[in-house]
Amino acid sequence: MAVPWEGVLRNKPAIQEAASVAVDAALLEGMLMRTEGQPNASDVVNYAPFTLLPSAVPSALFEQAYAVQQDFNLLVDAVSQNKEFLEHTLASTIKVDDFTARLFRIHMQVLEEGLAQSVFLGINRSDYMFDCGVDGKPALKQIEINTIAASFGGLTSRSVAVHGRVLKALGKSEEASRLLPNNPSKGLALGIAKAWELYGSQSAVVMFLVEEVQRNIFDQRCIENELWNRNIRVIRKRFRDVFEKGSLDDARRLYMDGQEVAVVYYREGYVPKSYDQQNWEARLLLERSRAVKCPDIATQLAGTKKVQQELSRPGTLERLLPGRAEAVARIRATFAGLYSLDMGEEGDKIAAMAIADPDRFVLKPQREGGGNNLYGEELRQVLEKIRDSPERTSYILMDKIKPQPSMNYLLRAHSPLQVSKCISELGIFGVYVRQGKEMVMNKAAGHLLRTKAIEHADGGVAAGVAVLDTPYLV
Ligand code: ADP
Ligand code: MG
Repeated sequence: MAVPWEGVLRNKPAIQEAASVAVDAALLEGMLMRTEGQPNASDVVNYAPFTLLPSAVPSALFEQAYAVQQDFNLLVDAVSQNKEFLEHTLASTIKVDDFTARLFRIHMQVLEEGLAQSVFLGINRSDYMFDCGVDGKPALKQIEINTIAASFGGLTSRSVAVHGRVLKALGKSEEASRLLPNNPSKGLALGIAKAWELYGSQSAVVMFLVEEVQRNIFDQRCIENELWNRNIRVIRKRFRDVFEKGSLDDARRLYMDGQEVAVVYYREGYVPKSYDQQNWEARLLLERSRAVKCPDIATQLAGTKKVQQELSRPGTLERLLPGRAEAVARIRATFAGLYSLDMGEEGDKIAAMAIADPDRFVLKPQREGGGNNLYGEELRQVLEKIRDSPERTSYILMDKIKPQPSMNYLLRAHSPLQVSKCISELGIFGVYVRQGKEMVMNKAAGHLLRTKAIEHADGGVAAGVAVLDTPYLV
């Protein structure tokens, strides 16, 4: 996967000049993040980390990832509506994983009461790597699908202009003109706007549910601005605010400070540390409400690693998407090997196989946000310790994807400029809206390319490991 600027990589003066152009372009284009030192103030900001140069992406795999996105939207939505499937699939996990268990209890509780919500909005991001098979041909393999708080759809839209500017500085104008335009935040906002409209109250607002620490606020502001441009009011609140000021009326309409909320867009709530007892109560209040939750709790559960693993079992996709053989085939083609560690003979065999050859696998707990997976020797040690205990069922096992590395420079504030051996992960944003049983919107909304140095097995941009990138199709 060669790029037409390989020769420039070792030209230190040209690289240094390009890097200073790149950083200023990033600031100028608004590819920004708040700083670690002042995560909740915009007085001091810096550029979000990014690659100096775009990375090569095989165009056939790029197109394949876009072509399967509507299928994944349908699949996630189908799983979220299938009470029996979620119950059965998560049964072993919720015995040992307290966080998933608490989410699941809320899910059951709102179903028992009866859903007040009739409009559903899904925003997800399906992530892939390009696996280098034995024949040397890269294949698209899904890493995971994020069904809650999938981020960087705003900032990534700025990388095209930044990388275009860098390529021009390096005398590659022709290549610069080939970078694809990309603006996920616009598509995501269209979904939110559609859900707001179907909710049907002109005076109601969209509420972004945000974290206590808000370093990535500019990414969210991109979506927010698209909504303000459509004259839809946006408020930003934390769980704590919902606990203190949120209420439901008799029809379970949600009010914040007396203001009706049509849509709740979660950019928070996907890790255990987001919740104390009050925040769990706030979550329950939101889930019981008529407001459109993006995602509702069932859709969040549909994005767990355990569900991903069960989806790969023969026959499961066919049952969830009846009469859609082509969609099923497109989805299945992106699956890597996934294995259950449930108690029993099958799980015993899988555990033994992973212990014998740990470098072939990744061990994943039911956690989001990067930095949780286990690899290599650590995988072996942990699995050996828990192989006979039900604790192993809080994990799934996955084949390790091995992409072909390429060279790039990762630009980070206060870090030296040095060349790194890198691998990339492509994400496609999906957005859909359902009213009752009818899908009224189902789209792919844009893409995100993230790149990291190969010495990091794990971790995203927010975790400080990966950086923003732009695909250069080859
Ligand atoms: P999280 O929910 O924490 O983002 P992921 O499944 O996306 O969990 O894993 C985090 C990171 O670990 C990915 O971004 C990728 O870099 C790496 N990773 C995950 N699964 C695999 C795999 N099967 N093969 C190789 N790397 C993987
Ligand atoms: Mg991930």
